[in-house]
Amino acid sequence: MTYAATGIILRRRDSGEWDRVYTVLTREHGKFACVGKGTRRPLAKLAAHLEPYSVTELVLAHGRSMDRVTFARVMASGTRFASSWELIRQVAFIAECVDALTRDAHRDAGLYDFLCAAFSAIAEQRCADTSSCIIRCLSILGYAPELERCVGCRATVPPGIAAADPVRGGVLCLRCRARTGEVCMLRSEDRAQLASMAADFQCIPALPAVQAFARAQLLVHLPGPLRSFPELTGAWGVRMVTGS
Ligand SMILES: [Zn+2]
Repeated sequence: MTYAATGIILRRRDSGEWDRVYTVLTREHGKFACVGKGTRRPLAKLAAHLEPYSVTELVLAHGRSMDRVTFARVMASGTRFASSWELIRQVAFIAECVDALTRDAHRDAGLYDFLCAAFSAIAEQRCADTSSCIIRCLSILGYAPELERCVGCRATVPPGIAAADPVRGGVLCLRCRARTGEVCMLRSEDRAQLASMAADFQCIPALPAVQAFARAQLLVHLPGPLRSFPELTGAWGVRMVTGS
């Protein structure tokens, strides 16, 4: 029995002598792995339609351990990112983040639509930096930053400059700040930009504190280091200060 899906190729790996296993995020069936039989053979017809970061129409056949691609037709090829290393770096980073932050069978049409929009923005060189992608992706997955109430005690944090704890995902009142180690200082404009990036995907350059908060929050949720961005480590970057 076969079924159809439209999917984004998040990653691929070699399998057996001539096959590849593809991790795809589909709108209809969520994230799953499937096998492309013979796709490493020279002149394999399916291979060009299954390049990493392509958006592809698929027909799959149910298999015992893994479903098998029986038909693929590329709608937006991964080769659109090949014009520069920066585009490849950006798209690889976002694809790896989405893969790392989701389990198999994770189904979320909003996440799929976000990733399509982010890939288009990157391909069209409209993505100034990837912070807006991180914030929106985390927000869709349920980790939107809390920017109005203290993440320690739920007290309202007044507008203006506030300390924020990326580990707990939001701003702190003065009392909770005193009990927290490393914090990130967010001004009104930083909080406003974080809120708008969480609500909608938009390709605007992130303010330095927003960038630092986005990276720190991403690190909290990633299960391990990223292949595409190994330099993203425990260093939170600019504008982090130690609480008193
Ligand atoms: Zn508090």
